[in-house]
Amino acid sequence: MTSCDRALVWFRRDLRASDHAALSHALMSARAVWCVFVFDTDILDALPSREDRRVEFIWHTIVELRLALEALGGGLSVAHGRAREVIPRLADELGVDAVFANRDYEPDAIARDVAVAETLAASGRRLVTFKDQCIFEKDEILTQAGKPYSVFTAYKNAWLKRVDAQALSPCPVEAHAGALVPDAGGPVPSLASLGFSRTNLTDLKLPLGIAGGRALLEDFAGRIDHYAERRDFPAVRGPSYLSVHLRFGTVSLRELARLAYGRNSQGARTWLSELVWRDFYFQILWHFPRVVNRSFKPEFDTLRFENRDDWFEAWCEGRTGYPIVDAAMRQLNTTGYMHNRLRMISASFLVKDLRIDWRRGERYFAARLNDYDLAANNGGWQWAASTGCDAQPYFRIFNPVSQSEKFDPEGRFIRQYLPVLAEVPNRCIHAPWTMSPIEARAARVVIGENYPAPIVDHAEARKLALAMFAAVKSSAGRGPAAG
Ligand SMILES: Cc1cc2nc3c(=O)[nH]c(=O)nc-3n(C[C@H](O)[C@H](O)[C@H](O)COP(=O)(O)OP(=O)(O)OC[C@H]3O[C@@H](n4cnc5c(N)ncnc54)[C@H](O)[C@@H]3O)c2cc1C
Repeated sequence: MTSCDRALVWFRRDLRASDHAALSHALMSARAVWCVFVFDTDILDALPSREDRRVEFIWHTIVELRLALEALGGGLSVAHGRAREVIPRLADELGVDAVFANRDYEPDAIARDVAVAETLAASGRRLVTFKDQCIFEKDEILTQAGKPYSVFTAYKNAWLKRVDAQALSPCPVEAHAGALVPDAGGPVPSLASLGFSRTNLTDLKLPLGIAGGRALLEDFAGRIDHYAERRDFPAVRGPSYLSVHLRFGTVSLRELARLAYGRNSQGARTWLSELVWRDFYFQILWHFPRVVNRSFKPEFDTLRFENRDDWFEAWCEGRTGYPIVDAAMRQLNTTGYMHNRLRMISASFLVKDLRIDWRRGERYFAARLNDYDLAANNGGWQWAASTGCDAQPYFRIFNPVSQSEKFDPEGRFIRQYLPVLAEVPNRCIHAPWTMSPIEARAARVVIGENYPAPIVDHAEARKLALAMFAAVKSSAGRGPAAG
């Protein structure tokens, strides 16, 4: 354990005051502990819009986190500036020996932390980091040959073999809170002073912050055993909706994993698997940071996408004429959330039906998802695009109509986000262009006027996608080794 007299805990994507690795270690190591959060302009300035639900979510959480730390006898100074400069400066002002933080695995965050550590070191201070956002990180789970896993099932089996009560045990805060020092700093800067406006976040009734994470966790604990059979239906309350809370650390991953690990039901086992996917993609990003811009399987970087801008815009705006895709995109645009099944369907549609580079879709999701996480989003996109590790094989192409029939059989989800289709009979809700003129009149739908005609014919698009992938496959086969 790092022992020191004075410490500063730097909160980043771990916005809670309980079961917190860095805070717990700081409290156990130092006599006096201060806490800080920085609204980092390096991150905020790069956001594409000044209305961003994530910034508002963080802002709400910071207000709550400060109260939680005050209730423990401490405080939270909240700064607005470049974390690379703010943290070393504050460390100097407070005269701390070390800054404690939880590890981040994204390349930009790693570079930031290296820069902060160097500046701190120049004045004799340390940056000490801890594992908190995954159960197993970096190279804790490797193959027998000492290599990173790129196949999920093998990784999961190794993960399950390794996990035990110790790996999931909480990092205590309250019992050691005596070392916390109250903060004499100013108020939390307003959203406006950060340069952001309010979004519809509070209208969405999305449970916010630490209390919201707790409420969702308690709600899900009563449903977890049914997760396996309910999780794929977007109109059913099947998943946990905890992703944004995991993203910002308003809940403890260890607590969630304990909930699932301690139960003997298919639902709990399946849900634990999802948390393992999360660890899996973190380790992929850490071992293979090139995936940020490139295909995990390099041969797919030569795919010749069609990349039509008008099709991309139609996809973004939910105007493809395929109701399940359009409803999914509208859910994303209006709420910042998209159900997992729909992420798979809409991503597949963009890459395979419209033949648009997965990176464009990935960036669109990145700008809008409340739970946007580089590792999971990149992994999900590369899975759907068949370019990733352990991805969907390129010849398995989701049919947007049969996926819709299977997972939204009565079109309840579709009707919620596409009210124009509210009166369409169940039989045609997945492919409204198949309505007879009488049915269309009764449903008050005019295809091509108040709801678009399908932008592509799926059967035709499928053939073109197969040809696009086959071209890469055959040129890879003609590579040097094949002679
Ligand atoms: C194209 C695409 C993009 C995605 N982008 C993201 C993203 O930016 N951020 C994100 O958190 N998830 C992403 N996912 C994974 C998944 O869709 C979401 O985690 C899930 O829909 C969030 O809802 P939930 O919390 O109700 O999930 P639940 O079904 O309750 O799952 C519990 C938790 O497990 C984790 N999880 C579940 N599935 C995955 C997965 N496939 N990969 C990694 N972690 C997973 C999440 O943290 C989630 O909150 C993406 C999936 C796809 C196919």
